[in-house]
Amino acid sequence: MEKYYEIRLESIGGLGANLCGKMLGELGIKYLGRNSTSFSSYGSEKTGTPVKGYIRYCDKEKEIRIHSPIIHPDLLAVFHQALLKDIGVWEGCDENTEVIVSIDSGQAAEEFQVPVSVKACHIIDAQQIAIETRSRINMVMLGAIGKVMGFVKLSDLNQICEDALGSKYPDALKGNLEGIRRGYEEVSSVKVSGLRSTSDRKLISGESSKKWGYITAPIGGINPRFGSSVAADLSPSRQGYIPVFIKERCINCGLCDSTCPDMVFQFKKGVYKGKEMMVNQGLDYYHCKGCLRCVDVCPVNALVQGLEAEHPDKDYFLPNQDIIRKPEYYIKAGADGYITSESYLTEKRMEGGEV
Ligand code: SF4
Ligand code: SF4
Repeated sequence: MEKYYEIRLESIGGLGANLCGKMLGELGIKYLGRNSTSFSSYGSEKTGTPVKGYIRYCDKEKEIRIHSPIIHPDLLAVFHQALLKDIGVWEGCDENTEVIVSIDSGQAAEEFQVPVSVKACHIIDAQQIAIETRSRINMVMLGAIGKVMGFVKLSDLNQICEDALGSKYPDALKGNLEGIRRGYEEVSSVKVSGLRSTSDRKLISGESSKKWGYITAPIGGINPRFGSSVAADLSPSRQGYIPVFIKERCINCGLCDSTCPDMVFQFKKGVYKGKEMMVNQGLDYYHCKGCLRCVDVCPVNALVQGLEAEHPDKDYFLPNQDIIRKPEYYIKAGADGYITSESYLTEKRMEGGEV
């Protein structure tokens, strides 16, 4: 292996990509005689939100010293065809990338349109196989990934599955081994029929400019690609709820802030009924997972249940921009994802203003 062999998993919460990534990482060390790392990236726990997994392998004699997300994967595994709507899924793919997509076999075309030239494209109906074998999509994908990697034996995959599930879930082992076997044996190549048109070449090439760097990022860093963002198109997998803030009703009691597990509420020093106090500015929806605990706890109905699909960011998200602006009327309602304490200060600093 001349350099790293890198895999990126593109999935949605609930399909098991996190476990699949961990198993691939352990596989490298335990059974492939290589060094390997794996980690996942996702927002607050929210079924249906985007999840990415990153796995790196290198020869045993070398060390893996980088721990960054994988931008130019050798292998891209897409756990659900609905994700192909998001052009960001293809980021960094090129003619060196092999792609596996879990696709409904009823819809699978012999020829497949992709937005960028890739080395090869493979498909597998992971959902159907998972149903038939009583396993899970991640196990079928694990089998398919192992096959396409080209240097993994089915017996190695079986072994890693037994290690991960054998003692914890012995009853589920048989089905999962069968799911892995079918993934390994049934993944098939499809002809790529040409490039799907898209204007997001910069994003696909992995060269989209980043506004956040080591100088401007707040202490602790930031994740400019939010997993649990209202801006993400989650329509393929879920339709959730979000709290809607009615500022005029709020008495600034702070109960929502102390209840929210994800620190979504933004309080700033201000004046309420002539008194100086911390005043609720609204929600940073980019971290809200829609549990609605704040709606339950608010004593004056200043928080009410709304539909996530109706959040105006659905119309204002531009995937090739790092900073997303909301329409003015929604900012007035308090919904400014960039009024987090850190990023607000950082933006001011970038503008050269007072902080
Ligand atoms: S629904 Fe409310 S409590 Fe739950 S994460 Fe969102 S803001 Fe926080
Ligand atoms: S719980 Fe309701 S009233 Fe209290 S600060 Fe939060 S939104 Fe305002």
